[in-house]
Amino acid sequence: MSGMSHYTSSNCSTTYNPMKVVVVGAGLTGLASAYALRKAGHVVHVVEKSNGTARSSGGLRSPPNMTAVLKRWGISDRIANVTISLGNTKFLDSLTSNLIGVAGPEAIRQICKDIDMQSEWLLFRHGALYDMLYELTLQEGVTFRFNSKVYGANPETGTLFLEGEEQLSTDLIVGADGCNSTLRQYLEGQSLPENVTPKTLGKTVVLCFVLSVDDMENDAELSTISEDTEWTIWIGEDLIHCGHYSHPGPIGKTYTLILNYPFKGTDVLEKHQHWGPIDDLSYFGLDLTNVEPRVQRLVNLAKQTWGQIHDSKQCPSSLTEGKLVLIGEAAHAIAPGGYLSTSMSFEDASILGTLFSMIENKSQIPRFLTAYEEIRQPRANWAQMRDAHIQAMLRLPPGPIRDARNAQFSSSLSKGQADEEMARIYEGDIKMYTYDPVVETEAWWNQYGSMVLSPTSRKKSVVEINVAGRTEIHTH
Ligand SMILES: Cc1cc2nc3c(=O)[nH]c(=O)nc-3n(C[C@H](O)[C@H](O)[C@H](O)COP(=O)(O)OP(=O)(O)OC[C@H]3O[C@@H](n4cnc5c(N)ncnc54)[C@H](O)[C@@H]3O)c2cc1C
Repeated sequence: MSGMSHYTSSNCSTTYNPMKVVVVGAGLTGLASAYALRKAGHVVHVVEKSNGTARSSGGLRSPPNMTAVLKRWGISDRIANVTISLGNTKFLDSLTSNLIGVAGPEAIRQICKDIDMQSEWLLFRHGALYDMLYELTLQEGVTFRFNSKVYGANPETGTLFLEGEEQLSTDLIVGADGCNSTLRQYLEGQSLPENVTPKTLGKTVVLCFVLSVDDMENDAELSTISEDTEWTIWIGEDLIHCGHYSHPGPIGKTYTLILNYPFKGTDVLEKHQHWGPIDDLSYFGLDLTNVEPRVQRLVNLAKQTWGQIHDSKQCPSSLTEGKLVLIGEAAHAIAPGGYLSTSMSFEDASILGTLFSMIENKSQIPRFLTAYEEIRQPRANWAQMRDAHIQAMLRLPPGPIRDARNAQFSSSLSKGQADEEMARIYEGDIKMYTYDPVVETEAWWNQYGSMVLSPTSRKKSVVEINVAGRTEIHTH
């Protein structure tokens, strides 16, 4: 295979030609990409505007596509120490709490009997995953600069402008600065045509309440869910809330409740644009009148409240410009609280690391970035459409379509076995969870790798494909 002599599927190969990389943003995406690029042999520095000490005890779900990336990095033992297995997803009616249906791992495992699912669904605490990655990056020699805000860049020269008149020059800028990315301004345009714009774009309140299981034990109703490792999603029209138990941490055994609803205000305070601790809920217009009474009690019992007003934007038409590449929420902003957002970030990091382990000299950087974009852009567009589809399906107003959805959920529950109908219902999940970024990169590289290594650059063409009534955008 041309150019892949020192490449292995476990992405533990390293380039013979280290470059200087600056990652902007030390969120999970920034840490994961810093780790992957450092393992690929590059000199990596991370710049973060906060002081880097925020650790949330909120639960974070790792679906198979994300767990697979972490395991490929050879850190299974560490993962086992800070996770528990996540069970099925239970859908309840938000108002009555009646069970509508069950989906998730068990059903998908049955359908995927013939497909290697590679890995499992895990539950992390956000802070534990963060600590693990931070420690790994430090061990590998990644350097950090906290309390440093980037306010601009020159993508052509690879220059970053930091507050306080300082500048950094680098070979590659990785923009991992979240959904309100500063670096996104250099990547204009939208990648999807107007008529397929996801309806989930815009501002969403995401609130994460962390409760002590001990406190829940004193409430007869709450005690029955306090150590539930199934993921319960209460679905209603506007507000969706979901909860599960998490791996024990600094405040003992915890239960996480995440609320997600459209933001009705206009301007968003700077402090709420990124995820952080919340001390005053009044700003968020939280209305719990139409949800079952347990939720109010859960909110009142919270030991920690975290969250943000998330701004979902469409992927820019290009993920790269000059020496700049956008990844994670900066590139494909999907509201946290589900499966998509964080797992896409780990896929991004894995692909970036895998590709850049093969770079031979700095002049190849633009072509390697084009390669990254060609592999990643179709998946990012698909994920945004998938999120829009899930959100629309969960927020259906009362009526025949909602009744049909509920009937479908409960029939898949009662069947308890995989059949063609279930395979059709779970088509999107299978595409989500069986994605292996290293295999995708290998497949792409086998076809086009020689052109990336040679000076003849490839021209990109965009193709729209209609798949089962949905438009998918593919770049070739
Ligand atoms: C402290 C924290 C706790 C979280 N807890 C949970 C949780 O419990 N459950 C859950 O489901 N999700 C949680 N999330 C969200 C989750 O991590 C993200 O949805 C997802 O993993 C992808 O994030 P990201 O790294 O792309 O973006 P983000 O998580 O938004 O990280 C972006 C980083 O870039 C930094 N940054 C932004 N602009 C600049 C700039 N101009 N210069 C320098 N740095 C900049 C930000 O300070 C931030 O650290 C949390 C996020 C954070 C930051």
